[in-house]
Amino acid sequence: MNGKTVMTCIDAAHASLKEHADEIASLDQAIGDGDHIINLLRGMGALAGMREQIEGESFAPALKLAATKVLSTVGGSSGPLFFSMLTGMAKTPTDDAGVAAVARAFAAGVDAVGQRGKTGIGSKTMMDVLIPVAERFTAMADALASKKEILEALPRIAEESMLATRDMLATKGRASFLGERSRGHVDPGARSSQLMIEAVCARLAQGDA
Ligand code: ADP
Ligand code: MG
Repeated sequence: MNGKTVMTCIDAAHASLKEHADEIASLDQAIGDGDHIINLLRGMGALAGMREQIEGESFAPALKLAATKVLSTVGGSSGPLFFSMLTGMAKTPTDDAGVAAVARAFAAGVDAVGQRGKTGIGSKTMMDVLIPVAERFTAMADALASKKEILEALPRIAEESMLATRDMLATKGRASFLGERSRGHVDPGARSSQLMIEAVCARLAQGDA
């Protein structure tokens, strides 16, 4: 994992968000204020604009660079949360670059989001996707699963977890203002996180990243 891989992951996530922009906008219009996809695409565009810098760094510095840009461009609740994700990931040593190291980095990123947003599982947020994915990733890496097995399993758990937010009651963020009326809609942040995880796994499974 290096800056080039980080940029490859950003590009994959960006393409999928663009493709699903209308759907994410509708989800945030239903239970939020509708800006989630605009916030994310603004950040992704800014990251694409610093491609050479990100690609020129090793893993952790590339994530830190991206994090700073995300904080200054994304806004909303999700900007500081994704900043925490990226800086949390950057804190874990990944010098051995193995699957286990990446799993630890991802889990540290998710922990950092939890601390920043003061949220765990069950509040109908992006955490309802991030936590199960981080747990499965760590468990599979500990069990010495292959990269291929992991890249197939994580998108599945992300999708199941995203769909499960539909019937949850929102207790964090803007959607919580709706109370019971928040039920019946997938959380926009859960959907965007799931789409990014799916796109990154699919891209990494191609093997040359
Ligand atoms: P805002 O709600 O401020 O308009 P965004 O639209 O960018 O921000 O992001 C909304 C998403 O952020 C929600 O769908 C939810 O997944 C996520 N979110 C909101 N609050 C929290 C929190 N405290 N912890 C984790 N995720 C959160
Ligand atoms: Mg919003």
